[in-house]
Amino acid sequence: NRRVVLAARPHGLPRLTDFRIEELPVPAPQDGQILLRTEWLSLDPYMRNLMEEVGPGYAEPVALGAPMVGGTVSRVIASRHARFHEGDLVLANAGWQDYALSSGEDLLALGDMAQPSLALGGLGMTGFTAYVGLLDIGQVQAGETVVVAAVTGAVGAVVGQIAKLKGARVVGIAGGADKCRHAVEVLGFDACLDHREPLLAERLAAACPTGIDVYFESVGGAVFEAVLPLLRLGARVPVCGFIAHYNEDALPPGPNRLPQLMASLLQRRIRMQGFIILDHYATRFEAFRRDMAEWVASGRVQLHEARAAGLENAPQAFIDMLQGRNLGKQVVSVADS
Ligand code: NDP
Repeated sequence: NRRVVLAARPHGLPRLTDFRIEELPVPAPQDGQILLRTEWLSLDPYMRNLMEEVGPGYAEPVALGAPMVGGTVSRVIASRHARFHEGDLVLANAGWQDYALSSGEDLLALGDMAQPSLALGGLGMTGFTAYVGLLDIGQVQAGETVVVAAVTGAVGAVVGQIAKLKGARVVGIAGGADKCRHAVEVLGFDACLDHREPLLAERLAAACPTGIDVYFESVGGAVFEAVLPLLRLGARVPVCGFIAHYNEDALPPGPNRLPQLMASLLQRRIRMQGFIILDHYATRFEAFRRDMAEWVASGRVQLHEARAAGLENAPQAFIDMLQGRNLGKQVVSVADS
């Protein structure tokens, strides 16, 4: 039973030495408990935030020496719980480890799924984030221009595809020519701009001649700065994340841009709203499941995954994802059967 623990709190981009792999005996379930074996582990940017002490209103940080947390698709290996049986496949929070015990409270039975790992991505947390963020917070309307950051990623690719099927014009932003080609040719977006190339603000203005109605924010930094002058009167900005800053240890130098932001929000009546997807499961998950199942079955939404193999490779895959080496939802195959 291997597990990946947090060995040190990172400074900047996490390094392999911030993680440690430990070997422990497989635990035995007590009455009411279930023994799970991880088949798929989800790797998500929020895990970077949990590696350090973050402020209130967010999840608890991982303690030094404790296993990294994370969503998993797990198999029930042994059960002393009435509702779960050996062989069941469940959505769990087993973290970065081969085996885990659960009381059953946080488990969701998955039944038969053709591709169970999608329960961690487009059919699960990240797809749901795209759905709530774009539809409930972004309030997208047909004919509007939607700009999507990290557009080939787990959340962004689904945001862009839902925006298209609602009749919007979608301009994506991604890192590198290959991702931009994928965004236009495979995902069907109207344009995609490489944020690593110079003159992003000028290129974005040219790609959005009537301005931006909805900006789906996952990145912050230079991308947000290029977007801000183009936001139209009454624009909506669902704030999903700001990954460009997750590895920063200090405030960036230079003049304070906060007054410019406040003036823009006020004068153009821009609505910017942060959201944490955990708040929306009770009210919106069933609608999401129904709609997304239909969109995926009809081919209107495609779900792409980046797969790493083996728990021991989870730290490197995580570091790679934070730097944009993933195309689509990053998962790790931990056990095949
Ligand atoms: P992705 O699959 O999109 O992977 C992260 C991507 O971020 C990378 O592939 C990279 O794409 C992009 N990126 C990294 N650094 C930078 C940078 N400096 N500038 C621009 N882009 C960068 O991850 P997810 O889809 O899982 O998550 C996307 C965002 O959504 C994150 O901010 C995450 O924290 C947030 N999130 C928020 C939730 C909520 O409840 N609010 C729930 C789930 C996710 P590229 O190569 O294109 O630059």
